Amino acid sequence: MNNSDKTVFVIGAGLAGIAASIRLRKLGFIVTVIEKNSTYGGKLDEFNEQGFRFDKGPSLFTSPESVDELFLLCDKNPRDYFNYKSHPVSCSYYFKDKSVLHFNTDKQKLKEELTVKLGTESAFKTLTYLERSKETYQKIGEFFIDRPQAGLKDIFRKELLIRYPHFLTSKLRKTLHQYNLTNLRNEKLIQIFDRYATYNGSSPFKMSGLYSMVPHLEQNTGTYFPEKGMRSIVDSLYKLAVEEGVEFRFEQNIQKLMKSDNGFNLVINGQLYNADKVVCAIDHLHFYRDILSDSKLFNYYSKYERSTSGFVFYWGIKKGIPEAGLHNIFFSENYKKEFEELFKEKKLPADPTIYLHVSSVVNKADAPEGAQNWFVMINTPAGYVPDSNEINQIRKKIAERLQMQFNIDVLSEIIFEKYWSAKQIESETGSVAGALYGASSNGKISALKRHGNRIKKIPGLYFCGGTVHPGGGIPLVLKSAKIVSELIGHER
Ligand SMILES: Cc1cc2nc3c(=O)[nH]c(=O)nc-3n(C[C@H](O)[C@H](O)[C@H](O)COP(=O)(O)OP(=O)(O)OC[C@H]3O[C@@H](n4cnc5c(N)ncnc54)[C@H](O)[C@@H]3O)c2cc1C
Repeated sequence: MNNSDKTVFVIGAGLAGIAASIRLRKLGFIVTVIEKNSTYGGKLDEFNEQGFRFDKGPSLFTSPESVDELFLLCDKNPRDYFNYKSHPVSCSYYFKDKSVLHFNTDKQKLKEELTVKLGTESAFKTLTYLERSKETYQKIGEFFIDRPQAGLKDIFRKELLIRYPHFLTSKLRKTLHQYNLTNLRNEKLIQIFDRYATYNGSSPFKMSGLYSMVPHLEQNTGTYFPEKGMRSIVDSLYKLAVEEGVEFRFEQNIQKLMKSDNGFNLVINGQLYNADKVVCAIDHLHFYRDILSDSKLFNYYSKYERSTSGFVFYWGIKKGIPEAGLHNIFFSENYKKEFEELFKEKKLPADPTIYLHVSSVVNKADAPEGAQNWFVMINTPAGYVPDSNEINQIRKKIAERLQMQFNIDVLSEIIFEKYWSAKQIESETGSVAGALYGASSNGKISALKRHGNRIKKIPGLYFCGGTVHPGGGIPLVLKSAKIVSELIGHER
């Protein structure tokens, strides 16, 4: 069947929507992307101020081949559009006793660092942990991530049956924290590997030990940074999409989507449009509540606990700190308490873990000479909007922590400041409660409960993006777009 007369409307021009549009174009569809904002990119936004450039959202970039794949699909050389460098230190971890561990993706260097600072046993345990992480990813992770979500009907499928020995292990019974406790035995290492729960906005004290496969995608496969910043990921993909013939319509307000006899009717800016298929590349809760107006589906999926949101300061800093790496974490004293505050008490952590990202460390043009662009983030409960008093408190706590570590008077170094909170994330990107990754992965089988890439009730409607299967974060969002295009492709 030829698709050249078939239309697909994609809702949302974030990374997921752009990636899906390119893939669907390659299948021959006439593709229109509808975006409420005046530009594409969603959370991958950027801004410039007083000679500083800031990426507003994501900063950690792994699996660059998932971006390259889209250019190769269109017979283009990715390097003509998008360039990145490998960044060997995945993260520098700072502890309250002022010690620091630099995690290098080069195993020999990591071994040396850990041997000197924590001893041979800890170094050995860490490398063994990373080997197991790789094994779990290869044996079960790839299977679940690269395909539509497995459901009850798949339980006896051969491809799944052969994976049970790897799936039904103690990792599944344990939480990530319990798994780390058993396998690492060192408090600092446990906190470092617990932190991977935050990669999808969850708690290591609730999510399954199977997520111990996540560090594989950073420590074993490497960390990278785009030469022109994170925004260049969507800049280059948008260019590719336009070249391939995708039509983008900005500042479009979708009022309604209705099923028609052979497709869908959409009301956009008061006008009626028809589409054969629709891809929802926005938060599915927002879609059910505000576009499909289906309270049943909205209530059903709202039951799942939201992932965390974040509060980000963007600071132009006069001189900064020479020790700053691209990614720096300043851990709280009591991680369990911090996650209880985030998920149980739903309040700002009294002693928050602080993430400092300084892209000007690798991309000098991101800050004036001698200065640094600081992206400083703490996790917050979804929907939590700090008042001005609390914002002052957060600023003060960050300054005190950095003063303690580097003896720097941060507040006197700030040339200008902007911030992003749950409320702005929601209004700018449509993410309900500003949750960064949709539903959290808190719970032993949360991955199987995540919203799928289509629903039985509405054939012809597909879902991709950070709130649905296989998960949030750049590589998974790109995979969701691929799964959707494969599902649509198979239907032909
Ligand atoms: C502060 C922060 C830090 C993060 N850090 C990382 C990181 O380090 N690494 C990582 O991999 N990931 C990170 N993430 C997550 C990552 O940004 C997301 O998983 C990813 O960008 C989601 O892409 P998306 O296309 O699914 O959604 P979005 O980027 O949210 O795009 C959705 C698009 O749809 C549009 N839209 C919404 N509603 C409508 C509507 N009604 N009509 C039309 N258009 C609409 C929005 O305007 C937006 O353009 C971070 C996110 C944030 C906010």
